[in-house]
Amino acid sequence: MSTIAFVGLGVMGDPMARHLAGAGHDVVGFNRTPAKAEPLVEAGGRAAESVADAVRGADVVALMLPDTPDVETVLADVLDTAAPGTLIIDFSTIRPDAAADFAARAAERGMRMIDAPVSGGQAGAENAALSIMIGGEEAAVADARPLLEVVGKTVVHVGPAGAGQTVKAANQLIVAGNIALLAEAIRFLEAHGADLPAAVEVLGGGLAGSKVLEQKAPKMLSGDFGPGFRIDLHHKDMGIVSDAARAAGVVTPVGALVAQLVAATRAAGDGGLDHSALYRTIARLGGEDVR
Ligand code: NAP
Repeated sequence: MSTIAFVGLGVMGDPMARHLAGAGHDVVGFNRTPAKAEPLVEAGGRAAESVADAVRGADVVALMLPDTPDVETVLADVLDTAAPGTLIIDFSTIRPDAAADFAARAAERGMRMIDAPVSGGQAGAENAALSIMIGGEEAAVADARPLLEVVGKTVVHVGPAGAGQTVKAANQLIVAGNIALLAEAIRFLEAHGADLPAAVEVLGGGLAGSKVLEQKAPKMLSGDFGPGFRIDLHHKDMGIVSDAARAAGVVTPVGALVAQLVAATRAAGDGGLDHSALYRTIARLGGEDVR
């Protein structure tokens, strides 16, 4: 059993840290807003008062933070405090080039760092059924695998440091495109007076079926756009996709359009809502008075 410092106990980090504690690991959580560490403590973990406090004495450091600058800030404290040999698992979704750079910085201090961004949403985290795409060195990935398998169901090593983030960027491109078309399809069905639950059920059994349809259609139908995965985070991810596509010299024309729809959703004040709130932007574009 490992001592795991877990930094970032938000929508995703909280259930992941609780699953690790439930599997018998000694999990020491740190969250900027301390109250969010309470569920971990109730699940048998401990709460630390700072990143350094959490990391001291840990074999493994797990990060689940919003964006690249957040990881950079927290990592600086980790590298200053953790012992050589410490394994750092970054579950956050960040820039692939930054992930490779951070792994190199960790190696300079004698530590090992892998990027292990996840997909599967809040439900995947709650149910320990995440898909985890890993970038990093073979030996570090092998050491991390038993922990990753506590929180994930599909755990795949996809290449060297940064490669996990590249795959995650592709994931976010596919998910955003799917949500945008699902929103259009539901607006279309509504305009035709279709029986929406029946339509969603039968669509789910055919080629149009997907996890996006399963998880996001109910939110669009109910109008409950509580996060989930915030539009602000998907906006960040579409920026990662467009920068990485430009760096590779590939074009993502549909992705560029969807990135604008995500940006418009944010500009309309919906950045704190779930990414299924793309529906609200499609409705607005169609002349609806969406509040
Ligand atoms: P979240 O609920 O906002 O949680 C992020 C946590 O990080 C919060 O607890 C926050 O603390 C903390 N934090 C933010 N900036 C920090 C900083 N500079 N220093 C220290 N702590 C900081 O976000 P999330 O939904 O869990 O997402 C986390 C990551 O997972 C993101 O990269 C996201 O893209 C990715 N992801 C999310 C989902 C999803 O469905 N939500 C799915 C797959 C991947 P406070 O409590 O003080 O704000």
